[in-house]
Parts: sequence; C-alpha cells; structure tokens
Amino acid sequence: MSRVMTTTEAITEARRCLNCSRPTCIAGCPIENNIPRFIRALSDGNFGLAYETISETSNLPAICGRVCPHERQCEAHCVLTKKQHGIEIGSLEMFIADFAHQNNLCPTSPSSGLRGKVAVIGSGPAGLTVAGDLAKMDFDVTIYEAQTEPGGVLLFGIPEFRLQKDVVRREIQELLNLGVKIQTEKLAGIDFTVDDLFAQGYDAIFIGTGSSLPRTLNIPGKELSGILTATYFLRTVVLADSGKLDESETVLHTGDNVVIVGAGNVGMDAARTALRRGAKNVTVIFHKAEEDITAYPSEYQAAVKEGVHFKFLKQPIAYFNKKQIRALQNVRRQTTNIDETQVAGLLLQHITKTPLGEFVAEGGQEVMPCDCVILAVGQKPAARIVTSTKGIQIDNRGFVITRDRPYGMTTRAGVFSSGDVVHGPATVVLAMKESKKVAAGIAQYIDAKKLIEDCSI
Ligand code: SF4
Repeated sequence: MSRVMTTTEAITEARRCLNCSRPTCIAGCPIENNIPRFIRALSDGNFGLAYETISETSNLPAICGRVCPHERQCEAHCVLTKKQHGIEIGSLEMFIADFAHQNNLCPTSPSSGLRGKVAVIGSGPAGLTVAGDLAKMDFDVTIYEAQTEPGGVLLFGIPEFRLQKDVVRREIQELLNLGVKIQTEKLAGIDFTVDDLFAQGYDAIFIGTGSSLPRTLNIPGKELSGILTATYFLRTVVLADSGKLDESETVLHTGDNVVIVGAGNVGMDAARTALRRGAKNVTVIFHKAEEDITAYPSEYQAAVKEGVHFKFLKQPIAYFNKKQIRALQNVRRQTTNIDETQVAGLLLQHITKTPLGEFVAEGGQEVMPCDCVILAVGQKPAARIVTSTKGIQIDNRGFVITRDRPYGMTTRAGVFSSGDVVHGPATVVLAMKESKKVAAGIAQYIDAKKLIEDCSI
C-alpha cells in the first residue's frame, strides 16, 4: 500500500534504486511505465523529467500510485524485493504525480484534434485512458458520460479512504487540459445511440461502459428490504458524502449488524466503508476457504486490521425476516408490529473443501442474524448500449466480443471496446493496459480509413 512521502523521503528512496540494466520492475508493470528512468530523474531532483516519463505511458499516475496493487506488480518484480526491501515504486509514483499537480507541471501540449474525431462512451479507467492516449496522438476526443460527473468506478466505486475524489477530479482535469471534451448526463441507448454519433461525423466510437450491472443472489427472501448491492451502497455513500443524497437514503444505519456476501476487492471496500458509516459489526461471508479469497492480500489484511470479521466456507441459501428468525429461535412471546418486510438474517449452508479442492455442501446449516446484507458477488455489463446498436456481438456471458486487428474493434466496423465490458471486472491498471492497446488500434483504423478515402477521391 502506498504511503505519502516528503520530498526528502522520496529522493532518499529513489536513490536506493540500482538502475538495473535489465529492469525487472518494468516487466511487472501492466502499462510498462519506464520505472528506472522516472526513479533516476527523481533521485537527481529532476521532477519535471520524472513526471514526463510517467506521463508517456500513464494518463492517471496519481490514481495508479494509490490503487494499483504494486506489491503484486512492479514492486514484486523489483530485484531488491528478493534481497531486502524492494523499492516503494507506488509511493514514488504517487509522490511525483502529486508534486506535478501542486507545481503545475504539464508536459504534454493540447491535442490539435486534426487526426480524426473519436467519441468515447464511459469515463471510467478504460474511457479516460483511451481519451488521454488519443488526445496525445492529436485526435479530437469527446467523452459521453451517463452520470452527473465523470470518473465512473474511480469516483463512485472506490471509496474515499482508498482514492480521494479530489485526486480523481484533478486527473480528469489533466485530460481536459489535453483538449478532451466531456458531456455528462448522456446515457447511451437513451439520450443517444452509436448511429447518432456516426451521423455527427465521428470516425470511431469507443465503448468503455464497464460492468455496471451488479449480480444478486436468487434465493428465497430476495424481495426483503435491507438487501443491497455493494456498488449501490458505495455509490450512495459517495453521493451522501458530497451532499447530493440525504443521509437517510444510504440504507445502512449506525449500530447495524452488516453482512457482506463476497470476498473480492469490492467486498473489502464495502466492509470497510460500512464500518466507517457506523456499523456495529461487519462480517464477510465467503463460500470458499481463506486461501481462495479473491481480494488483494493488502486489502484483506487492512479489513481484518480494522475489525471486519470473516466467515469462510459458508454459502447463503435464504434471507429471513424477523418473524422467521424468531420462529427459528423458538421465541414464543407474542409481539405485535414485527416488520416482516425487512431482512433480519441469513440462512448459511456450511461448505467443505475436499482434498481435491472441490467445494461440497455438507456440515450443516446456521442462521446468522443481521440488519443489512450487502452483496459483492460480481457484476456484468448493462445491455442497453449493445441492444440499441446493430452489429455488436456479445458472448454468452454478456461481454462484448472484440478482435485483434485492429486491436479492440467489435464486430461492427469503427466501434471499439475494452475494459470490464469486454473482460469482466478487473483492476484499474488492467483496464488501462488493454485500453492503451485499443487506443493504438483506433488510431490505426482511422489513419487507414482516411487513407482509403483520400485515395478514392
Ligand atoms: Fe530499481 Fe528495482 Fe527496477 Fe532495479 S528492479 S531498476 S532496483 S526499481
């Protein structure tokens, strides 16, 4: 996990770098930041060159410095990690991005917009990366965002304690400085279609709408209130924190016993946020064992440290209301006004992991009382844009099919896609990695299209 460094600490840390002739750290970076070059510049006190070096490959260094799993990527590959203490690359990245912002360093001049016109639908990590890369390549880029503010999962999905909203806003401002335009409250499939955009003269269209549709559990009692998805919960918290939603509408109440279903990174974010919102107890339920947890170790450890409880090898099979819970607990006392519409507990099936690594439902059941259930069991793409656009094929899980040449083009010519809507939910930096390749594919496609048009005149 990255830490805030002073200038002296950053330079001291940068000076530990060996500037290896074969830098393994670059191989560990999904977007191949020139890590030794930026660290060398930093150690020399040349912060301008350090920021310029990072900006060559990353449009969102302040965000990556905060949320990338460096301990699994560049830092894991640093030669010093094997010998002693690896270079804190994530913290250095965060330092230089913040320094550049505070001192108004902007190495790239605005796009001329003369090379072609591109519409980007969605402003999460994929859309922002494509927009930034294409603007740097002199394309005229406009982002269409359904929400009132751009940022997608960066703004509404990742909680404030992991990624401060002002950092997201300032990275987006850097893109605006490159000449990228943004139109908010434009919902694809409702306010406009892909055909409308082509009719407006766009040469190519990029779909980066993410996997915004949360999955739920189709089990008895699913209609009870107090059951919500993690993405909804996290979004309402952001809106409440920014004064755009009344606190009473955030569902979770102070003193609640909260159950989180799912142990991925979104589950950890939801659990830690629930604690910060005043939950009395937060317990994560996971149907597999501790070693199978899908959250990053650092996120899991942070959740444990903050007091989140975990129950492994438990599968929810029914939601119960208070009346059902009382019946199960053999409470005979007659009470009027029992709310039968509110969730009051979960029925959990115990799971056993076999020596072959299979999971079987055995070992009994238990009832777990709670006041609120937050589901973090995965997401899938919203179908609206695909159903409103002719010629875009999806696979049997609902993800958009793309090709390798030009990279990232869908089954409809001129329409490209990447990020979660193609690959399923992944990390910010993996969405950026694919989207950089797609930006190059879009540039290739538009150049070829214009060449053919020129030759046919
Ligand atoms: Fe520096 Fe580590 Fe990269 Fe070598 S592997 S150049 S020591 S950051």
